Amino acid sequence: MAYDILIIGGGASGLIAACALARKGRRVVLLEKQNRVGRKLLSTGNGRCNLTNVNASAADYHGSRQAARQALKAWPPEKVLAFFEAIGIPCDADEAGRAYPMSRQAASVLDALRLGCDERGVETRTDFRVVGLEKGKEGFVATGEDGRRVEARCALVCTGGLAAPKLGASGEGYRLLEGFGHRLSPRFPAIAALKTPPEAVRGLKGIRAEGQIALVADGAVVRLEAGELLFGEAGVSGIAAMQLARQANEALREGKRCEARLGFLPGGDAVGRLRARRESLPMRTMEDFLNGIVPRRLGQRLAKVAGLDMALPAGELTAAQVGRLAEALAGWTLPVTGTMDFDQAQVTAGGAVLKDFDIRTMQSLRCSGLFAAGEVLDVDGDCGGFNLQWAWSSALMAAEAMDARLGTGEEGR
Ligand SMILES: Cc1cc2nc3c(=O)[nH]c(=O)nc-3n(C[C@H](O)[C@H](O)[C@H](O)COP(=O)(O)OP(=O)(O)OC[C@H]3O[C@@H](n4cnc5c(N)ncnc54)[C@H](O)[C@@H]3O)c2cc1C
Repeated sequence: MAYDILIIGGGASGLIAACALARKGRRVVLLEKQNRVGRKLLSTGNGRCNLTNVNASAADYHGSRQAARQALKAWPPEKVLAFFEAIGIPCDADEAGRAYPMSRQAASVLDALRLGCDERGVETRTDFRVVGLEKGKEGFVATGEDGRRVEARCALVCTGGLAAPKLGASGEGYRLLEGFGHRLSPRFPAIAALKTPPEAVRGLKGIRAEGQIALVADGAVVRLEAGELLFGEAGVSGIAAMQLARQANEALREGKRCEARLGFLPGGDAVGRLRARRESLPMRTMEDFLNGIVPRRLGQRLAKVAGLDMALPAGELTAAQVGRLAEALAGWTLPVTGTMDFDQAQVTAGGAVLKDFDIRTMQSLRCSGLFAAGEVLDVDGDCGGFNLQWAWSSALMAAEAMDARLGTGEEGR
């Protein structure tokens, strides 16, 4: 047989597995349906590739936390970073632990992985959309949509999830795994903008503000995030808001009523601070009163939410009106009706169930010699380098296990 391993999907997990296996001298063929590998990787971290987070722990993950914990144990961020250093990508981390290549270019990460594959003889076949995967006597046979067939002793499915279909995401990998009896958990967008009724944010499109955002489901705060918030035509994005998408989708699927509570005055005592502002700016009408704390248009909206007339001068604000304005500024509550769909999401929640895999090796418990890694599996992380960390670590675990399996001649048993 020409190949030891066939890898389906040339994204983050497929590329690093190919690279690692080729470095161990394995004969690898990488099948990618797009006309080039790693397209999504180029878009990560706004083109800078936030490739891991040095503070990663299982708590940063959802779906199978146990699998995430296992992957972090086997391939913690520092070991992943050492791997990248070894293929020519030294990295450093910011104060939040987010690690980037020193070049701050996702393209250099992709180049290093590609070169790492090419230099060690990985055969990369692009424009190869795998539509079938079967296990025969000797190993696996992958079939392309045009009927081409590729055989290898082990197979690794790295087809990613459903997020960002323009960058290659599709459901085919799930079908391939289902063919071997693998179960799928429900899939929905994670890391995506929150949707609100358009009238709730009308006129605010494009406005950015630093603030806090809490997701409230049936009256209980589920998660609180702080950072930049960006208003859209029918919702709120920015990392802080997008971090809440998974829990929002989960709560909505359970039939809970969801709201986002936005606060723009860190440090508390909104009433006291607005009272002081009323004293120092008595002539300022509500049109401009909050300008400077928040962008002017947002300030006007918050004054309206508090039921105040735009022409009202601050000096005439009653105690009750100050109270209402403080409430709007520190806890403006918007209904959340959903999240943006997969087109605009960064990550997929749900996927192939980890109970069907040995989470120490990522080998299928349904079919010996079949492995999977990355977003196709039911693990997703928060924003901040955690998803790529999962892609790398699960793929590197699978690569080590495949190498061990081939080395001991165990395959086919
Ligand atoms: C805009 C954006 C920014 C992001 N930024 C970050 C970030 O900074 N840090 C972070 O940690 N995470 C980030 N993510 C998430 C991260 O990119 C993914 O979690 C990660 O790429 C998943 O790796 P993967 O290998 O599982 O899947 P992918 O990288 O999606 O690769 C899957 C590959 O399989 C191919 N494929 C699919 N089906 C087939 C088939 N049937 N036959 C052949 N090939 C197939 C696809 O074309 C694709 O190339 C971002 C995601 C997006 C969309």
